[in-house]
Parts: sequence; structure tokens; C-alpha cells
Amino acid sequence: MQLIPCADCGRKFSAKALERHVAVCKKVNTKRKAFSAADHRAAAIAEANGAEMSAGPRKKKGRKAAAAEAEAEAKAKKAKKSVRNLAKSAV
Ligand SMILES: [Zn+2]
Repeated sequence: MQLIPCADCGRKFSAKALERHVAVCKKVNTKRKAFSAADHRAAAIAEANGAEMSAGPRKKKGRKAAAAEAEAEAKAKKAKKSVRNLAKSAV
């Protein structure tokens, strides 16, 4: 598979993944030009949420952590919702 570097952040993606990544990358990068670790993390989380799935094997740990974080967040949201529903039906 041929990897193409992102023009904004330089990370490499397959053609299909790059197409999706660029949209996310632009969103993140237009907010602040300086490339901080926080921005990078936000992009990684956004990507873990489904923007791209076939990045290179590098940064395995980071992607895994980001995915776990996103999963935990989704679980917390679900729990909150069910609690709200419980409270609703109780009242
Ligand atoms: Zn990028």
C-alpha cells in the first residue's frame, strides 16, 4: 500500500485514509497554528473515532490509548444517559 504524507502534519496515510485525515487535520490545525502536544492528541483521538483506520504501524501505543480513551468516554456517556432515563422514569 502506498503511503502519502499529509501536507499539514507530515504523517503518512494511505490515499483513502489521507482523504479523511486531511479534513480532520485541517479542522485541528486551523484552530491554532502552533503544533502543540495537545493538538496532536486531539487529532489522534479524532482519528481513533473513525476518521482513519489504516495508518502505519508506528505509534501503536498512542493510538491504542486514544481508542481506549474514546471508548471510556462513550461508556461514560452511555452511563450518564441511562442514569438520566432512570431519573426520568422515577419522577
Ligand atoms: Zn495531517
